[in-house]
Amino acid sequence: MAYPGIRAAVADRRARAVSVSRAIHADPELALREHRSSALLQDWLRDEGFTVAAGVAGLDTAFVGEWGTGRPRIAFMAEYDALPGIGHACGHNLIASGGLLAAAAVRAELERTGAAGTVVVIGTPGEEGAGGKVIELDAGVFDGVDAAMMFHPADRTILTRRMLACLHFDVHFHGVAAHAAKNPADGRSALAAMLLFFNGVDALRQHAGDGSRMHGIITDGGQAPNIVPEHTSATFIVRDVTLERAQALAERVYEVARGAAAMTGTRTEIVPTSPPYAHLNSNHTMAARVGEHLATLGHPHEAPSPTDGTGSTDAGNVSLAVPTVHPFMQIADRGTPGHSRVFAQASGTERAEEAMVAMATALAGLGWDLFTSPTLLAEATEEFRAGGHDPAAALEAVIA
Ligand SMILES: [Zn+2]
Ligand SMILES: [Zn+2]
Repeated sequence: MAYPGIRAAVADRRARAVSVSRAIHADPELALREHRSSALLQDWLRDEGFTVAAGVAGLDTAFVGEWGTGRPRIAFMAEYDALPGIGHACGHNLIASGGLLAAAAVRAELERTGAAGTVVVIGTPGEEGAGGKVIELDAGVFDGVDAAMMFHPADRTILTRRMLACLHFDVHFHGVAAHAAKNPADGRSALAAMLLFFNGVDALRQHAGDGSRMHGIITDGGQAPNIVPEHTSATFIVRDVTLERAQALAERVYEVARGAAAMTGTRTEIVPTSPPYAHLNSNHTMAARVGEHLATLGHPHEAPSPTDGTGSTDAGNVSLAVPTVHPFMQIADRGTPGHSRVFAQASGTERAEEAMVAMATALAGLGWDLFTSPTLLAEATEEFRAGGHDPAAALEAVIA
């Protein structure tokens, strides 16, 4: 990658990027409560000359930074929430710091050369289950954005990995309390209903489509052993290769809950806990450009597999609204599981920081290309308008 201006701008900011990444990593904050991480990122943007609006879309920890004027408007997304109990096991410290590093480098180059356009940095809280990006999309935060980008850390480098659509919801059962020894016949057990629900979902699993996932935890298992449980609850996720399929599968899971309630004389209640996450529609035009930049920086990538294990992201919803690229960057040995304690540790290493800087450089390269090459932006937009890529068709092609 030639781009001496971009590379110099990245080098000038590398120390701050590493320190911001380390600070966020050392102070993990949960979804929609990322106050210190959000403030740290906003401070950096202000120091870079961005105008920052905090608390956008009614979310305290969301923000938008802007620099420049007019079109194109190219957005860099930053995530900064951690996972309960295991900290930055998704490496969002690297996403946040790498995203700002890329945006700041592009801003510096726009200023140096006088090229036109607006660099937008969107602080997107609560990716781990709260759907911050979906709330921001609905509030119009992404309006007028011509293209958006971000990356996730991973155990391998892939430009267009599929991501599953998913629905997050709580399942409640309401029973009747009674003395568990003296008056059991007067009680109706919400715990019995919950156990049947989990077993029913396991029975459904064999008959759900390839690539689907259904998993949950019990968050309230009853009140005391000598009381027939009056209330139980679980928090649950249903995923599938497309949003349409995930919604259809969730309906079958709700029916299992209703069946469990019928069997036990209890009542069930399903409460969505976030907006639905869509599958990711990666923009291949932009992804190819990221791959070229990464290659010149000495980072090869591998071909995606439609059967590779994967998660979900609210960047999926963004990808259905604007041309979006979301590559994965290797920061740890192959086989290191995501959302694990090992991955949390890996996200704070020098190896991860090195990878973050390389990916930020490649994304800055793509950003610069989008600002200065109307042809590239037109091609990316054309691909997006044509409907992009259907993950269900890709999976069926492999399984057949
Ligand atoms: Zn993540
Ligand atoms: Zn995650």
